[in-house]
Amino acid sequence: MSTNKMHIICIRDLSLVQTVHGRSLVVHCTDNDDIGLIVDSVREKNTLHALWVHSPLTLSDIKIPESWMDIPIMLECSDMGNFLAVREKLAILRSPAFTVYFPASVAESYTSVNILSSLGVRCGITFSKGWIDWERLNDLLHYAVYSRAKHASIEPFDTIVRLYEPFKTVRFDTAYHNSPETYLHLSKDGKVAFTSEDAVAGNFCDHSFDEIETIEESQQYQNKINEWQNHFLEFDECSCCQAWRLCMGKFSGSSAANPGCKSFFAELMNASEYFYALRKNQSQVENPACR
Ligand code: SF4
Repeated sequence: MSTNKMHIICIRDLSLVQTVHGRSLVVHCTDNDDIGLIVDSVREKNTLHALWVHSPLTLSDIKIPESWMDIPIMLECSDMGNFLAVREKLAILRSPAFTVYFPASVAESYTSVNILSSLGVRCGITFSKGWIDWERLNDLLHYAVYSRAKHASIEPFDTIVRLYEPFKTVRFDTAYHNSPETYLHLSKDGKVAFTSEDAVAGNFCDHSFDEIETIEESQQYQNKINEWQNHFLEFDECSCCQAWRLCMGKFSGSSAANPGCKSFFAELMNASEYFYALRKNQSQVENPACR
């Protein structure tokens, strides 16, 4: 598959939107930006894969117009805020195109996601370098994948459990448009980074945006894709973790401050394997010739 088809381009600088043609774009912006204008601008020459709207405000304080209902928006806010005010917005928030995210480092986020999901709002948890309550994340995982009570999907569990295959790796960051197999990150001056962390840190590859058709052949790209192997070369704690195929050491830097990653990821692995087996059984019932 050519890079053109495979890679979705993530943009943080809005002035770039007009300079990219014929791509599928993830655009990062804030709730202060003119969302309608960005969407029109993207759709002029590209496809809008998703719009990440980052806001320092609570969900109750953010102004959410009805026009956002048809846009694939991932809204990252600080907290739920006033529930009565959020209740007024439920009709828009329940749009299948809309997902609300709260940070793992805020204790209330786990309850907020639980409540919103049970009200039919797609939502999720985002991770930065801060504290993570693995136990409550585990509770949320169980609610997301096993609960029979009607609820909307919760990320990143939905994406990982849906994409999991036993002989492949599924990057945890796929749910956040941040896996180099699918997403590339473009800087204002046309430089390309393999992850959003690299883009923020200024770690760009030698290929410019004009050269991305051949990026997969580069040693730098291959090194990035295989970076997880360093854990085995160094024989660190991640190398003997049952769930490395899902985490791939993503939390290794913070595991000392966040003990509990292993048991959470082991549960996520169990859930992924369970639902993979269910899917497989179902497809064998529907297509007996495949057995
Ligand atoms: S769950 Fe923890 S120990 Fe396992 S791979 Fe991830 S960071 Fe490493």
